[in-house]
Amino acid sequence: MNLEQLLASFPHPVGPLRILIVDDQPVNIRVLHQVFRGEFEVLMATSGEQAISLCQELRPDIVLLDVVMPGLSGHDVCRRLKADPDTRDIPVIFVTSQNQDGDEALGFEIGAVDFITKPINPIIVSARVRTHLALKLQSDLLRTIAMNDGLTKVANRRKFDEELAISWRAAQREGRVLSLVMLDLDSFKQFNDRYGHQQGDACLVAVANALNQSVRRPHDLVARYGGEEFVCILPDTDSQGAIKLAEVMRTAVKALEIEHLDSAAGGFVSISLGIATQIPNTGASPQSLLAAADGQLYQAKRAGRDRACAIEIV
Ligand SMILES: [Mg+2]
Repeated sequence: MNLEQLLASFPHPVGPLRILIVDDQPVNIRVLHQVFRGEFEVLMATSGEQAISLCQELRPDIVLLDVVMPGLSGHDVCRRLKADPDTRDIPVIFVTSQNQDGDEALGFEIGAVDFITKPINPIIVSARVRTHLALKLQSDLLRTIAMNDGLTKVANRRKFDEELAISWRAAQREGRVLSLVMLDLDSFKQFNDRYGHQQGDACLVAVANALNQSVRRPHDLVARYGGEEFVCILPDTDSQGAIKLAEVMRTAVKALEIEHLDSAAGGFVSISLGIATQIPNTGASPQSLLAAADGQLYQAKRAGRDRACAIEIV
């Protein structure tokens, strides 16, 4: 697959590809800029420090990195990028005038994917960059597919399990509150029986979109837990905040006005929600918080559906 085909394969739109060119000599940057400016978004840095902060802020898709620079060398920069989980997947190609074997071996050892020697040949540089961008996109695409639900495009169970563990540890470390919302579609079996599974799928997609749009902070996560069940992780959110968001979600789903004649909630598709909130302590686990949210969901069902129940664990 070429780059254009790969970009089109992503379930979410992917912005223009970004290349970062790092060299202490502006004239060298200019030469590479000429090669790539028509094809990619080109970022430039004239020092190692600048290169690292650009990588952290703007996450380029590939870095062309000069080796010999005053201050942080290209090797230093590469080591730091590879040591940071946020930047370690960005492929690094060294651009060097010293084509001694020792240097190349060291570059590969610290995590570079390739070498280009100065003076550069535009055709070779362009071909190598495209090759490594294609590899990077393939691994991004695999990760995206592995972490997203194929039908609804929200996070899947695997991603949820990972994020829950991360959020739990962060909340525990910082003594912060964490909320979970477990929810499911009311009488969904009857919906499928009456309207068919294709309508059932369309309904799940519409509900997932409504849930996703209700959640606005970047660290909140909506995931499909299984079947017609969804779950939200709300870091740093107290019980009141979680109850408020649950109400926004419940209202958003009702506002879709998807016909459901077997529903208890006025002939439209509705959801029930269970909320559990806790500051993680040593006796508790992510699983116990999840079980508590599930228990509240059960309460909401028993109380008549189309509502939320919440518990605060101390
Ligand atoms: Mg240099």
